Amino acid sequence: MKKTQNVCSFCGRPQKEAGLLLQGLDGFICCDCAHRAIEIYREQMPVEDRFKLEKVPTPQEIKDYLDQYVIGQDDAKKYLSVSVYNHYKRLLQNKEDSEVELEKSNIIMIGTTGTGKTLLARTIAKLLKVPFTIVDATVFTEAGYVGEDVESILSRLLQVADYDVEAAQRGIVFIDEIDKIARKSDNPSITRDVSGEGVQQSLLKLLEGSMVNVPPKGGRKHPEQDYIHVDTRNILFICGGAFDGIEKKIAQRLNTHTVGYNSVQNKQRIDSKNLMKYVLPQDLKSFGLIPEIIGRLPVLTYLNPLDREALYNILTQPKNSLVKQQEKLFAMDQVELSFEEEALQYMVDKALEYKLGARGLRSIMESVMIDAQFDAPSRKGEKLVITKDYVKKQLEKNTQLYA
Ligand code: ADP
Repeated sequence: MKKTQNVCSFCGRPQKEAGLLLQGLDGFICCDCAHRAIEIYREQMPVEDRFKLEKVPTPQEIKDYLDQYVIGQDDAKKYLSVSVYNHYKRLLQNKEDSEVELEKSNIIMIGTTGTGKTLLARTIAKLLKVPFTIVDATVFTEAGYVGEDVESILSRLLQVADYDVEAAQRGIVFIDEIDKIARKSDNPSITRDVSGEGVQQSLLKLLEGSMVNVPPKGGRKHPEQDYIHVDTRNILFICGGAFDGIEKKIAQRLNTHTVGYNSVQNKQRIDSKNLMKYVLPQDLKSFGLIPEIIGRLPVLTYLNPLDREALYNILTQPKNSLVKQQEKLFAMDQVELSFEEEALQYMVDKALEYKLGARGLRSIMESVMIDAQFDAPSRKGEKLVITKDYVKKQLEKNTQLYA
């Protein structure tokens, strides 16, 4: 019997031309047609469905979800969970009987770089299925100066929402490095401060909720462009910043010192190693945020510095921890990878030693694994155990920094 050639049931091309054919009950589909099908599906599916949440999660459910990806930072998680939950209540509130109008609860998180601020915001957005974008406050300048206008934040949100204005209006924006637009001193400046106070003023408009004219493709406004009108009332803004040096302001307020003796009165209660947790809105003001901005970011929370245990947990525990990612990479080459306990501890030591935080763990892991990854395809079926000596050797060999 003559064997008939398999063809894609959609474009009719034979396997020879189309490459891989996936078999269905009654026919085949080639990868090109499958791709096209996804595209059509995406185009046809209303954006609201893509960004639709079946059920608003409770604060506990939000926190449980965050726990799967983010280690520690319980206070920040609790504040975020409640704010997001309230945000939804606000979106659902019945406009008619709104004698008590729920106000928006934008959030500000302070904490050293690499402690998980962005990760928290990103993870929340993933759970909520809302358009989400991250912007860096340092790129903004006042309108009319070199740099981006703050409206470009909304252009990005629109892009993520495929220009569905309704969806974008319910989105979440994470503004990173908000501390970098602090004015240089607590005193209102006499001369204009292009990159600081002016930007804070323009951000204010977005944070408090107003109709903003957004140039559709971002970038500079041109008179001939048609603007998209975006209402920012229901957009949740989460701001993050390291606020380097804010401990001093907090210490001053607490009438204690970052080094030396605490005042007798506070000695019992104050954890002088982690002053961030005592942060209050007035410290943000001392740092150089204008009161109007602080007022628009009513939920203030902090992230803890990552200690040895936290770093170790970050390496091993989250759903997509660095160790699990490496094991998966090797499993794809059919190599069974494992790490000795001491090897992991050594990597944590190095991250601590060089004050690289959780970000450092990633680059340490990459330096350690680079050679093994290079060889992995030719070691099918083998087992590979990463020992402390191997880590040490690799770090000495592959980077000057960790030697
Ligand atoms: P930040 O925004 O505070 O500067 P990020 O959230 O960007 O820091 O963190 C950098 C990387 O470090 C993340 O991609 C993540 O892998 C890791 N990381 C930082 N903090 C944590 C944490 N608490 N739990 C899990 N991973 C973390």
